[in-house]
Amino acid sequence: MSLITAKDVSLKYGTTPILEHVDFSIEPGEIVTVIGPNGSGKSTLLRALIGAKQPATGQITRKAGLRIGYVPQRLMVEGHMPLTVRRFLSLPVRHSDAEAREMLERVGVAGFGERQLADLSGGQFQRVLLARALLGNPEILMLDEPTQGLDQPGIASFYQLLEEVRQSMGCAVLLVSHDLHVVMSTSDRVICLNGHICCQGTPSVV
Ligand code: ATP
Ligand code: MG
Repeated sequence: MSLITAKDVSLKYGTTPILEHVDFSIEPGEIVTVIGPNGSGKSTLLRALIGAKQPATGQITRKAGLRIGYVPQRLMVEGHMPLTVRRFLSLPVRHSDAEAREMLERVGVAGFGERQLADLSGGQFQRVLLARALLGNPEILMLDEPTQGLDQPGIASFYQLLEEVRQSMGCAVLLVSHDLHVVMSTSDRVICLNGHICCQGTPSVV
């Protein structure tokens, strides 16, 4: 059974069409990457999939009770500063200290619980965001440009981590990414947007 299905979905802001005739579904455990130029509607599509934006027409169906771990492209945390990593992790849902500690270790920032969020490097921050999403034990992770601003080694190690996490936790991953060479090596499927789905399929086909 699919986790999420979009059926002939169109998305608009006001009267401006952003995406039309969007059809796809996401199956348990697969990695799907959405690519497309700036402004093509990638973030809007993710917002629609989590239910934060209603389609103008068409239907989005989610498996009943689907647990989604969503990390937006821009997270407004400035208002919460100063904030420790531990406190940040517990903002959406409370977890035991042991669970939080274990998760930070798992994503490669062991012992960071008492660090200030504002003091983290870009790559460390992305790992903390991933930890927070994973603490909800998601069936699908949705990450909107999680490696923006990272250098090449940072990008490579983030994707390696993502692959490890996916294998150990068995979740599906829906990514928005411009890291094309990584997309080609890690995704099961690529969806290319530009007003509509221009193409979708395995990386070699796309
Ligand atoms: P990027 O690669 O730059 O992140 P994107 O593919 O994620 O781009 P979106 O953020 O989904 O693009 O935006 C798609 C279009 O919708 C853009 O033209 C954007 O200006 C517009 N848009 C996004 N959010 C809103 C909003 N809340 N109100 C009106 N227009 C919006
Ligand atoms: Mg975007």
